[in-house]
Formats: sequence, C-alpha cells, structure tokens
Amino acid sequence: MKSVKAKKSLGQNFLKDETILKKIADLVTVTKDDLLLEIGPGMGALTKYLVLKDCPVLAYEIDLRMKPYLEKLPNLEVIYQDFLTNDLANLKAFNYHQLFVVANIPYYITTPIIDHLIKNIIPTKMVLLVQKEVALRFAAHPKSHDYGFFTVFLNHYFEIKIEGEVLAKCFEPVPNVDSAIVSFTKKANIEKINIDDFEKFVKKAFRQKRKTLKNNLQDDYLVIASELQKMGFSDNVRAEELSYENFVHLFKILFKL
Ligand code: SAM
Repeated sequence: MKSVKAKKSLGQNFLKDETILKKIADLVTVTKDDLLLEIGPGMGALTKYLVLKDCPVLAYEIDLRMKPYLEKLPNLEVIYQDFLTNDLANLKAFNYHQLFVVANIPYYITTPIIDHLIKNIIPTKMVLLVQKEVALRFAAHPKSHDYGFFTVFLNHYFEIKIEGEVLAKCFEPVPNVDSAIVSFTKKANIEKINIDDFEKFVKKAFRQKRKTLKNNLQDDYLVIASELQKMGFSDNVRAEELSYENFVHLFKILFKL
C-alpha cells in the first residue's frame, strides 16, 4: 500500500528505523490483564510490535487516512478522534489491571498529551518518543538549565529516565530536531497531597526563573523562610535549586500538613 503523505499540521513524522521501533515496544512488560494505549499510531509502525504483546491495544488516531493500515492489525481497537478532547471514559470498558502508554507522539502537543493523561489516569509506565530538548527538560536535575516547573510536577508521579536518542534521519519526513525516548515509571508511593495546590505553589516558585524564591513567593516565603534556612539554603535561593522532595517538604510546612 502507498504511504500516506505526511501532514505537518498533525505532527506527522513517521519513524522508519525498525530496531528503534522494536526497542521502544520492548520497554514495557505487560500481562494479559493490562491495557496498552498508543496515541497517534499513524500507519502502525510501532503498533505492529505492540499488538504482538499479551494484552489488548487501544489507539487514538486523529487522521482517518490511517484506517486502511490500522484495520489490518489484530488485537487492536482504534478510536478515530482527537486524543485531547476524548474524556478517556472508553478506557474503563477494558476493565484493565495496569495501564501502559507507548507512543511516538505528535510533538506539537507533547505537554497537553501528558497533562491530559495525568489528569485522568496515572499510567503504570509511559514510554514516549519526544523532541530531545523536551526530553532533557523532563529528566532534568536541580540546578541545571533544563530544570523547571514541569520537571517538578512530573517528578510527583514518576521516575523519569532517558532511554536513548533517536536522530532526525530515522524519520520520514526528516524533522529539524533530534528526538529521545523517555520512560516514566509510576512511583510506588505517590505523596498524598493536594496536587492542584502543589501545582500552584511550584508554578509560583518558578514564575520568574531568574528571580529568587523570596521574590516569586512573596507572602508564602515568610512562612517557609526559617525552614529553608534549616535546610541549608540562603535567602537568595532560586526555585531551580530545590529538588522535588524539597518542594514537597516546603509545601507541607506552608499548608501545615
Ligand atoms: N506512530 C507513528 C510512527 O511512529 O510512525 C506516527 C507518529 S506521528 C509523530 C504522530 C501521529 O499522531 C500521527 O499519526 C498523527 O496523525 C497523530 N495525531 C496528531 N494529533 C493527534 C491527536 N490530537 N489525537 C490523536 N492522534 C493525533
């Protein structure tokens, strides 16, 4: 069958390297009671490896031109809709034990896809192919250039690891950025704190990255100032110096938890 002509507006860069496709699929181990979710299967390059696994596969694809390719694959249900506007209620029908997400996602909606997932269900593991710069941000450590609000937010739920780089030439059409495979493994014990309040607190701390916490947090800073000192931080400390654990600790002081 003739390949579908890629639409830039839908983030269509098809991965052509079979070794990498197989490597991505092999990064999850499922049982028959689990569910595998793929966002943007395209012509099924990755899907053909996912359907060989032991559990059902559900995919969301916005482009109906992919239907003739995906129809050929067994053990696969495709919802031809925008993933971001789907309320994910369809997932319940699968009555699964654990949810795994594996996808070469459209880069223009990387953060909204992760956000949409997390706000609905926390997958046991996600393996995503994303733009390299974005992968570095997700997996960044404190005091590094790439570290920011979203890194801390993701660290609330997951252990994050870069599993390998993928050069632009492995895609068709060739994008103007390199990519990286990132795995997000759900933490065994996720802190039981109000995530909306925590998100607001961390966002505020990073409001102006170059400014000190004192400047960004204003009144809230007065409540945590002595604790920061006990933790060994100076009055000029910036948000980028604090680890996820530091943020949780300070949040608990602020909210008297
Ligand atoms: N998985 C295929 C591969 O690896 O070659 C295709 C990956 S391509 C980067 C992204 C895919 O996501 C395309 O098939 C595109 O049509 C689909 N897509 C884009 N926006 C989408 C959305 N909002 N919801 C569901 N699928 C979407």
